[in-house]
Amino acid sequence: MKRCSTCGEEKSTDSFTNNRSREDGKATQCKSCVKKYRREYRLKNEEKLDLKSKEYVKALEPWYIAQVLRMPLSQLTPELIELKRAQLEMTRLTKQLKKEIQNGN
Ligand SMILES: [Zn+2]
Repeated sequence: MKRCSTCGEEKSTDSFTNNRSREDGKATQCKSCVKKYRREYRLKNEEKLDLKSKEYVKALEPWYIAQVLRMPLSQLTPELIELKRAQLEMTRLTKQLKKEIQNGN
């Protein structure tokens, strides 16, 4: 039996993940606490991602497109704005997907 450093519950050593750097070879947090921590961490990150995508949509205003294309706003046509938006969105999605794959999600 071993006491979890997070929830303080006494659990069988099976409930702890292995950690070779520890004296007893087990992590100080029980598996369910580790799981909970990971879940909360993921939720927090998802909130951040959501915020980022909102900021991103804002960044796709015509004035921003004009800046990216280095054109005066007055010369932009709706088609050009649409195309550039789609291109930027693809770039963003590609990066996001790449990151997710690398993070093993
Ligand atoms: Zn615990």
